[in-house]
Amino acid sequence: MMPTGLPARGGAGAVESGSAPLASGAAWTSAAELDGGTQDCGSGLLLSLTVAMRAIGQGEVLLLHTAERSVLVDLPAWARLAGHGLIDVRADDDRKGPWHLAIRRGAPAGASGAARADAAETASSKGLAFSRGEATPLGRRLWLYSNFHCNLACSYCCAESSPQAAPRLMPVDLAARAVDEFVALGGQEVLVTGGEPFLHPDLGDLVAAVHPKVPVTILTNAMVFGRGARRRTLESMDRDAVTLQVSLDSAGPTIHNDNRGAGSHERALEGISLARGLGFRVRVAATVMESDLESVPALTCLLDEMGIPAEDQLVRPVAAEGFADVGQHISLDTVEPEPTLTVDGAWWHPVAVTSGALKVADQPLPLAEVYDVIRDVLSFQAASSSEGREVFRCT
Ligand code: SF4
Repeated sequence: MMPTGLPARGGAGAVESGSAPLASGAAWTSAAELDGGTQDCGSGLLLSLTVAMRAIGQGEVLLLHTAERSVLVDLPAWARLAGHGLIDVRADDDRKGPWHLAIRRGAPAGASGAARADAAETASSKGLAFSRGEATPLGRRLWLYSNFHCNLACSYCCAESSPQAAPRLMPVDLAARAVDEFVALGGQEVLVTGGEPFLHPDLGDLVAAVHPKVPVTILTNAMVFGRGARRRTLESMDRDAVTLQVSLDSAGPTIHNDNRGAGSHERALEGISLARGLGFRVRVAATVMESDLESVPALTCLLDEMGIPAEDQLVRPVAAEGFADVGQHISLDTVEPEPTLTVDGAWWHPVAVTSGALKVADQPLPLAEVYDVIRDVLSFQAASSSEGREVFRCT
């Protein structure tokens, strides 16, 4: 263990002045500190960590300082496997570091076996790069683009939304007809996205046309419903049937604001707080570039502290669609279909609405025709993959 010379030893504000509180930090006090310098987990840090953790008591906290970015990705997995808990992450600079990670030895003192398992599971989730899940069976879920304009113009927006984008508003009666057919075909869940849905002047009516039949999730940047008519629209929504999914890319403001615009991080946090205060279930979704994966543990720490349950924390890669030059490749072969309707068509997946190659139909309805086209493509893909290769003899 090496001395760090840091004056502080605990909780929120536990690290030297100038450190950004990536996760606000429930109260904790470090029993020891370790300066990992530029060591990564493959070059000796794990040995130092193991020794340092053995030197403190169960339930006590080790404060690790590191200037090596890869530690932010590797350490959560190590903590999970070793049975420790990563409880706080801070940075002097979101991207350049150095970073300060608080690790509690073992399970919190007095924790039950179940609580210990929960802690391990939470740590596990911090070690995962992107959220994954089962493919949604075709027909269970329907995406509706309420509009395409937005108060933001995020650097990676797959829909190419911005304040200047054509609104392409979905009429309420179209949404209602779509949901009627969707439910008749066995549909169970609608997701409303954009653009920023709260810029749709009739969003309240549109959502009211959906949720008596199926629950609805609205994807929002949470920046425009704080006051006036949009606040009244929000307050009019049924808390039992409407979930809000809010975009928050990082615990600290740097990455989020770089992606989404100055001041957007603070306003997103305000919007999350407002919506939760009004009684809404709020799911928080981060869009994270490969180069910023190290920021994920700090974000999950923050969301844990805010009381956002793990199942409502989502980390997505950037899709190489719309404004994004780089990111996950989206094609018929690489993503499972999630039927998506806009006012002027139907699409394979909600992140692909700027791709002509992934347009399923020139009209959003009938939905049955959209499903049939998708099923035909899936059948062809299944047949071609099972056909196998033939021997090509040259001799
Ligand atoms: S990513 Fe979302 S918040 Fe950003 S411009 Fe696109 S629609 Fe708006």
